[in-house]
Amino acid sequence: METADVVVIGAGANGTSTAYHLARAGVKNIKVLEKDHLAAGATGKSGALVRMHYTNEHETRLAVESFKYFENWSDVVGGECGLNQIGLFVFTPPEHYDDLEANVAMQREVGAETYLLTAEEAAEIDSSVSFDDVTHVAYEPRSGYADPNATVYSFARAAMTLGVDFRFDTPVTRLLTDGDRVSGVETPNGVIETSTVVVAAGAWANKLFHPIGIRLPLEPRYARVSVFRWSFDRPEKHMTYIDRINGTWSRPVDGNCTLIGAEVGVRPTDDPDAYQESPSQDYIDHCRRQLVHRFPVMRHSTMRGAWAGILMRSGDSRPVIGALDQYEGLYCMTGDSGTSFKTSPAIGKCLSELITTGTSQTVDLTPFRPSRFDEGKPWVDQHTYGTDDIQDTISR
Ligand SMILES: Cc1cc2nc3c(=O)[nH]c(=O)nc-3n(C[C@H](O)[C@H](O)[C@H](O)COP(=O)(O)OP(=O)(O)OC[C@H]3O[C@@H](n4cnc5c(N)ncnc54)[C@H](O)[C@@H]3O)c2cc1C
Repeated sequence: METADVVVIGAGANGTSTAYHLARAGVKNIKVLEKDHLAAGATGKSGALVRMHYTNEHETRLAVESFKYFENWSDVVGGECGLNQIGLFVFTPPEHYDDLEANVAMQREVGAETYLLTAEEAAEIDSSVSFDDVTHVAYEPRSGYADPNATVYSFARAAMTLGVDFRFDTPVTRLLTDGDRVSGVETPNGVIETSTVVVAAGAWANKLFHPIGIRLPLEPRYARVSVFRWSFDRPEKHMTYIDRINGTWSRPVDGNCTLIGAEVGVRPTDDPDAYQESPSQDYIDHCRRQLVHRFPVMRHSTMRGAWAGILMRSGDSRPVIGALDQYEGLYCMTGDSGTSFKTSPAIGKCLSELITTGTSQTVDLTPFRPSRFDEGKPWVDQHTYGTDDIQDTISR
């Protein structure tokens, strides 16, 4: 019978980060089991925006801690993460100025470099954007985007160097339990006995949870993007943008295109394996309209590509990270709700701390605990932008 000290299920950003941090903390005999390949889930399809703007302190702390990795990637992890620090604007509805101001103050308090600018000040930084419907923006000069695949490859390489055993094309078909504790995992190649399992299976987590009676409000959702070539008269300046008014986010890609994600008609699905990797024409038309609204010059741009990914949305749109009370030794990171690439370095570190010491020191994971739903305490942010209909689906 094979054994492991820890089994991590899923080799996306969060699974590889967790395995890497566990190995760095001195845990031996770690096995990462991945049904496909590195970054095969949401991670490989991610827009990979790296920014600090959250509407709550806890996720901001994860983002701030993670940013230290992204900025110093080759020294800390080794390899590349492809960070491009081109700056970020966040557009919010003018009537939510007080919320924007409170959030920027909170983010500065926990260590983010972010500023509140008037639309006029912002236009001096980037004149290619239409500020018609905004009075103020949040500005993060050091934020931008990264390469999600490179990030995972370097987490995996660093973990392998520390002795972690990665098994690709190896689905976990069942979590095994013994009374009130986890005892192993089943794969087509046999059983691996272990007392500690981390489910970092993204949109597939329910397939492992349901058979052992764990029911969390988790729902797989499509997230889609499309890519448009910069037009003839598009200025070179191109930052990263989160548009809370129109429900879009965008950033450059390939040095001459804009990658835009628009959260419209996001459909839940029961089966994360049955999704189509190509978005519909309706979706592309919607992206084009939203793009032109924010960047008028892009009315002359050519569509160059589009894809869809699948992620896991939680009942309160916040990640679900920590120990599952139902079975000792069982931990999870899921319910990313479209925003846990940029926080994956800190999530892996915190999970490793929780597993090895019983508490997470880097960032307190208590607010993310899976039991919050059973306790009737889903997460509610104090300062939102009144766009709940799109906010709960936006991936960025
Ligand atoms: C289009 C899109 C845009 C996004 N934009 C951003 C962004 O700009 N910024 C940001 O921070 N986040 C963004 N996100 C969200 C981000 O990508 C995710 O939060 C993050 O990648 C989740 O990583 P993960 O490792 O938790 O899950 P995943 O990357 O989904 O990894 C889960 C892995 O588990 C494997 N697996 C599942 N079940 C099993 C099993 N039974 N046995 C073995 N392996 C299994 C899967 O094959 C997969 O590889 C975006 C997501 C999408 C789809």
